Amino acid sequence: MAFEVPDLPYDYNALEPHIDEQTMRVHHDKHHQAYVDKANAALEGTEWADRPVDEVLQNLDSLGDKATAVRNNAGGHSNHAFFWELMSPDGGGEPDGDLADAINDKFGSFSDFQEELKDAGVGQFGSGWAWLIHDGSGLAVVSTPNQDTPVSEGRTPIIGVDVWEHAYYLKYQNKRPDYLDAWWNVVDWGKAAEHFRAASG
Ligand code: MN
Repeated sequence: MAFEVPDLPYDYNALEPHIDEQTMRVHHDKHHQAYVDKANAALEGTEWADRPVDEVLQNLDSLGDKATAVRNNAGGHSNHAFFWELMSPDGGGEPDGDLADAINDKFGSFSDFQEELKDAGVGQFGSGWAWLIHDGSGLAVVSTPNQDTPVSEGRTPIIGVDVWEHAYYLKYQNKRPDYLDAWWNVVDWGKAAEHFRAASG
């Protein structure tokens, strides 16, 4: 089955005031839809057309002259599907349990981790994403340009934040650091813990 944009698991205005309704409408309905449409067009007629997106993203080398279009647009689909599910109107606060322990062990404290992720997001020149990933041996903060995803490198995203201007410009204009500060209020740490359990189990 061709890729489809999943419905948001909350209302467009549910993440207010941290992420505004208009941004969510354009981001989900227009930007994500465009990635899906272009990914489907690129994959049509190939052996990868009906495969899970993460499997496609781990086999970009086999896509020949379609590889760049698939990297950008299947990457955009995977990243945004992940992003919507990671946010919640009941989000915010701090992780607990094994994920909290792993963050404290790796970064020293939750606030040190937050600073490192913010630095990765602010420091990503142009468009991209900042991530907490599990690389098979432990946690790391990384950033990726464009719609590149750690999934392509066989790494598991635990959390990820979109730092494309389309994710924040209507409300925050040029102030990417302010958007990144506000974003912590909508992170669903329960969902992040699911990703962590799957990666470390
Ligand atoms: Mn985006």
